[in-house]
Amino acid sequence: MNDRAQRVTDLLPAAGADILLVSGLVNIRYLTGYTGSNGLALIGPHTRTFITDFRYLEQAAQEVDDSFERITAPQDLLDSVAEMLPDGALRLGFEDAHTTVRGHRRLTELLPERVELVAVEGLVEGLRAVKDPEELARIRAASEIADTAFTELLAEGLIGRTERQLALALELKMREHGASRAGFDTIVAAGPHGALPHATPRDVPVKRGQLVVIDWGAEFEGYRSDCTRTVSIGEPDRQAAEIYQLVLEAQLAGLDAVRPDAVSREVDRAAREVIEAAGQGEHFGHNLGHGVGLDIHEDPRLARRSDARLRAGNVVTVEPGVYLPGQFGVRIEDLVVVNDGGRELLTSISKELMVTG
Ligand code: ZN
Ligand code: ZN
Repeated sequence: MNDRAQRVTDLLPAAGADILLVSGLVNIRYLTGYTGSNGLALIGPHTRTFITDFRYLEQAAQEVDDSFERITAPQDLLDSVAEMLPDGALRLGFEDAHTTVRGHRRLTELLPERVELVAVEGLVEGLRAVKDPEELARIRAASEIADTAFTELLAEGLIGRTERQLALALELKMREHGASRAGFDTIVAAGPHGALPHATPRDVPVKRGQLVVIDWGAEFEGYRSDCTRTVSIGEPDRQAAEIYQLVLEAQLAGLDAVRPDAVSREVDRAAREVIEAAGQGEHFGHNLGHGVGLDIHEDPRLARRSDARLRAGNVVTVEPGVYLPGQFGVRIEDLVVVNDGGRELLTSISKELMVTG
């Protein structure tokens, strides 16, 4: 943990700040270990301060890394920031993505003239994008739990159960296998509903002849996993089988493009051009993938317009889809770690079209 705060300090000069006020709770967790819902951290060359209110005193004492001085303040923590700062002229960085307009105004009112507020963008997120071995172990565990739960669900059969029942069963199984919770809201979407990439499970039974998109993940010790499989209830018709093969081919092309130094948009392109060449480009409306860690969507993004380069230690999804409105959808998503040799697949579930009852 000390290491992480040190890395923040090392990046401050380039960000034009002397001290960073960390207000994003996930970033605070990453830097200090604190998992509560009210906290702030101040990090600089001679500053390691963690601030919370009395409700979280005990929790902070147990969780917050020893390198931080712990301070208890009234519940509106921003009100106390001014008095925690060292003397003299100071550029105080604030996290622009995690500071409300109201919070910014409050800081402006309370900080003395000698303190200049500087917007800092994505500094901690950039560090979080490269996972250390302990983080990888947790993501791996989350992924294994999710895979086990899915394999069990499939063995029970899907037909006749509602989307909601299936989503709930999957979440229950993940918890039984050690997940603290689902990594995000599980998607189970059958038939035409599967053409909505972010479908919410309905009280509608899954029927023979449908493709079912299932997108699920586990959370384990704060870290998440993410996976999608599309299964066929009974033999698929020819069109469904063809689209499935197309998405699989695109997914494999995307996976193959994942390696250190690859430019995000080129990885996206590798998968997308397979789908475009088959005339289905307009039915793949979202980006190829995203980073996964303490958050379900984090850096780096595998996006059409991202120039970011992948690095060893990134954990990303590769999840192309083809969505035919009114008919069905197919998405195939794996979770991978970028490593020096290219990539390592964390998802262990087969990608051959699974035909089930
Ligand atoms: Zn997913
Ligand atoms: Zn995803």
